[in-house]
Amino acid sequence: MKKYDERETLFSRINLEKGTKEYNEFYSKHKDLKHKDDSIRRISFRHVLRKSEEFKDLFFPLTINNKLYIKNLHDMVVNYEVKDKVEIPKGFSKNIKEIAKYYGATDVGIVKLDKYSYYSHSGGLSESLGIDNYNDLIKPKYKTGIIFTVKMDLEFMNRAPNFEELLTTEQAYLRVAEVSARLALYLKSIGYDAYASNSETYLAPLVPLAFDAGLGEIGMSNHLVTLEHGDNVRLGAVFTNMELDTDKPVDFGLHDFCKKCALCLINCPSNSISHLPRMVNGRQFYKFDENSCFELWVKTGTDCGVCIQSCPFTQGLDLDRVAGSRGNDNLIEELVQEHIKKHTRREYTKEDLDIVKIGEDE
Ligand code: SF4
Ligand code: SF4
Repeated sequence: MKKYDERETLFSRINLEKGTKEYNEFYSKHKDLKHKDDSIRRISFRHVLRKSEEFKDLFFPLTINNKLYIKNLHDMVVNYEVKDKVEIPKGFSKNIKEIAKYYGATDVGIVKLDKYSYYSHSGGLSESLGIDNYNDLIKPKYKTGIIFTVKMDLEFMNRAPNFEELLTTEQAYLRVAEVSARLALYLKSIGYDAYASNSETYLAPLVPLAFDAGLGEIGMSNHLVTLEHGDNVRLGAVFTNMELDTDKPVDFGLHDFCKKCALCLINCPSNSISHLPRMVNGRQFYKFDENSCFELWVKTGTDCGVCIQSCPFTQGLDLDRVAGSRGNDNLIEELVQEHIKKHTRREYTKEDLDIVKIGEDE
């Protein structure tokens, strides 16, 4: 087992400023990454969206204060003191899951955390929270991870890689921050220390934990693929010292399904996805070119989302038949072909949604 290091993630790497001590230190150890990271270093890409200036003036501000909102939620949790402890009854995991759903989570699972769950160091990605934590050691302080999904809007995602994709992604990040903040506040108010993860702060990578929590399996896209919403979900987490019953990974046969499907790989406009397995701490991921993926974002002005939109699980499958498809290649093939017949190889709608349509009838 190897500890994850947030400093090795793409966003942390390309956030480093050329010539700084941190930059020199990192690339002296990772020479192979320097050249390709330099070409996408500290690039903001939203302005390149192929839309009129009028469109940008009218609709870019839709998400203008999202990060400030997330910062306020984050500060509220950090500044809230842990109150007197209320003993929890046996089986309280069930309540916690329902509470997370009440706050807005789509699905919830619980895992036991160990030192390999956490990042070893922070990657300095919390600037918007007013935190400079690059290189900080992360102490594995919490025992339990409450991991949850928040589904995104399919109508929006089916416009990917257009602006609507970005809108539903940002909306889901906001919802993740709300759910995690409210859940952490609740836990602290009944005497259990808690940390609310959100898009601006992670103590651990969430895909492995979401897999362990039984929320889905890891698909060829390297995303968590859920049975009901595919990878059209964002992940959130609250870490706490409340001890809860935990969940187990699920196996609905996604590895075999991906082998017959590969639609995310076929549709990916930057050829970033591969079918080659890559084991990371005992979980199967796939080899992936994160740099070429980000290069595509820089061209489209959104964070793409074509792989999410391409997944048959995102568009909806007959789950009774999926349940019977494990080890049955013919049935998987049938499900994939039926999906293609109904949705084509990629479900895509060009027409703008009303929320960003300009100059239509009153
Ligand atoms: S986000 Fe787009 S470019 Fe990146 S892997 Fe998915 S489909 Fe490919
Ligand atoms: S699109 Fe197909 S290959 Fe890709 S993750 Fe979904 S099921 Fe797997």
